[in-house]
Amino acid sequence: MITQLIQDARKIIFKFGSNTLAGKDGNINSAFLLEFADQAAAQIKKGKQIVIVSSGAQVAGLSTMDKWARKKDIHYRQALCAVGQVELMENWRRAFSQYDLHIAQILLTREDFNDTNRTLNMRNTLFTLVDEGIIPIINENDTVSVEEIKIGDNDTLAARSAILWSADLLILFSDIDGLYDKNPKEYPEATLVEEVRDMSTIRKNITIGATNNFGTGGIATKLDAAEMALSYGIPTILAHGGKPRSLEALTSGAQKGTVFLS
Ligand code: ADP
Repeated sequence: MITQLIQDARKIIFKFGSNTLAGKDGNINSAFLLEFADQAAAQIKKGKQIVIVSSGAQVAGLSTMDKWARKKDIHYRQALCAVGQVELMENWRRAFSQYDLHIAQILLTREDFNDTNRTLNMRNTLFTLVDEGIIPIINENDTVSVEEIKIGDNDTLAARSAILWSADLLILFSDIDGLYDKNPKEYPEATLVEEVRDMSTIRKNITIGATNNFGTGGIATKLDAAEMALSYGIPTILAHGGKPRSLEALTSGAQKGTVFLS
């Protein structure tokens, strides 16, 4: 099913969580970004269009401004994201430049999605960039987003962006193989749910556990994102982004994940 969905989709949106983008040393894992760029470039050669939603600004900020690690103040956290966003995009830029591909940065807030004029502009910019072969990389604009007006997690941002761009497929890359009946990090015997066709039944049948360091939404927001995308007819795949050449492995059927479809 996953193989088929990826093969059939022309417009794919990928979301990467912070824990997937950070290496063991806590820095942005540039080798990982390069490996993804290599696989994405191959997909683009086949005629696919891609958009990326990338977390990781805070992680990248911390590796630059490590003396701010203990500062919990909201303004410092926003400042950290402002520093880290540059670092993050520089990593993505370097990765894709190896394949002669350009990237573009789009920073969005919840209010942008609630304003008809802004959504129209966002949509037009996305279409123009992608038509020109440029890879848009979207993140939440943390500098202007205080808690009350935040989208808050990039799973939701990815689903909203998928709807805005009329994507064919949303792929949420996390640090877990997919949705389990309970958190496998707490319960090693947990089993992977490979296919979800009914969101309300699955919500009753699974237990949602804790989120990782730097993870903001956890599994709950991934379910919400999948449900939101599905309501617009966009299927979602939740898969481990950190396995060797995950995109290729998913496409060939060598790697499992969870697929949400109607
Ligand atoms: P990301 O940074 O990729 O957005 P999160 O840390 O926010 O990832 O969420 C993924 C984590 O959610 C997993 O690593 C896992 O520990 C946790 N989790 C809790 N409950 C479940 C569950 N039922 N199935 C899968 N993962 C779960």
